[in-house]
Amino acid sequence: MQTRTAVLHAVGDPISVETLDLSAPRAGEVRVRIRAAGVCHSDWHLISGATQHPLPAALGHEGAGEVVAVGPGVTRLQVGDSVSLNWAPACGECFYCLHDSPCLCDAYLEPIWAGVMLDGTPRYALAGQPVYHYCGLGCFSDYVVVPVQSCVLLDPRVPASVAALIGCAVTTGVGAVLNTAQVRPGSSVAIFGAGGVGMSMVLGAKLAGAARIIVVDRVAQKGEFATSLGDPFRACRRRRHRRDSRADRRARGGLRVRGGGVSGGAGSVSGRGAPGRHDRAGGAGADGQQHQSAGGGVDASGETVKGSYYGSAHPPRDFPFLASLYLDGLLDLDSLITRTYRLEEINSAYTEMLAGSVVRSVVLFE
Ligand SMILES: [Zn+2]
Ligand SMILES: [Zn+2]
Repeated sequence: MQTRTAVLHAVGDPISVETLDLSAPRAGEVRVRIRAAGVCHSDWHLISGATQHPLPAALGHEGAGEVVAVGPGVTRLQVGDSVSLNWAPACGECFYCLHDSPCLCDAYLEPIWAGVMLDGTPRYALAGQPVYHYCGLGCFSDYVVVPVQSCVLLDPRVPASVAALIGCAVTTGVGAVLNTAQVRPGSSVAIFGAGGVGMSMVLGAKLAGAARIIVVDRVAQKGEFATSLGDPFRACRRRRHRRDSRADRRARGGLRVRGGGVSGGAGSVSGRGAPGRHDRAGGAGADGQQHQSAGGGVDASGETVKGSYYGSAHPPRDFPFLASLYLDGLLDLDSLITRTYRLEEINSAYTEMLAGSVVRSVVLFE
């Protein structure tokens, strides 16, 4: 079949919307009709050349939609199921999978960075030549074929735009707070970079009952936006402030969460036992970039430094959990979506993302 897809042909080129050939799902794969796909900064790293990737590439790695065909051997999903796409199709058997770190799974990292399915081949083609899948997905497209492990069944009451964001920004950001940093009630949290991942961290920190959240971004308007994000624990925190304001001012158990702009793999985290001491935070994003902050003396301070890849998540466990928090009104994911586009407007979507005029935008499909 054929599908409209956002394709990058060469570094520095504008994105072009092409009609590609899409092969039928093979064993262990499904075809998904995409309903929404988030505009994440990680795709931009391919355009800028910061991430090396086989080209031409179908962009988009934060998607959700409906299963429309299943390949041989697929029993876990059926046509009509609502799914959010997971760019970490873990094997479930390797050392990392068996130690609750499926996002670090050995089996999927090599194929997805080669832009292919788990069997080593792509499903997209243009004029008989392969087009590679970014993050094993390439979901700025009417249809994708992906491994069944890349699909997480979600409650169909979750809107597609929200389900898409759960596939990357929300899991990366909320996961960095809940899974990686394990922020406790009363903590202070500093978040550097207030895009879709950083704002998801804000929501996660509020959910965790953080007493103080500091958001740092070059766009001042983002600070106002951060304070307006949903806060189900506000009343609870006000009561605690009255009871224990002095302890709150000391910012006990302070945590520093570095994220935002690196998207897919955002979230280097440094916990600190006492304010005013030097610290260091470092980690690698999904794009393999290294991130360092100034300072030193980790050994002398007793600080802990942790990297967070995809929010240290277990997507089949965490996507439905995050969706249930959303449906229960505890995680205001609608508030993250500040603009929607059609696929033909994909270049404008990236221009406005780079200008900092949106928190998260989403491409909606018919
Ligand atoms: Zn594995
Ligand atoms: Zn992403």
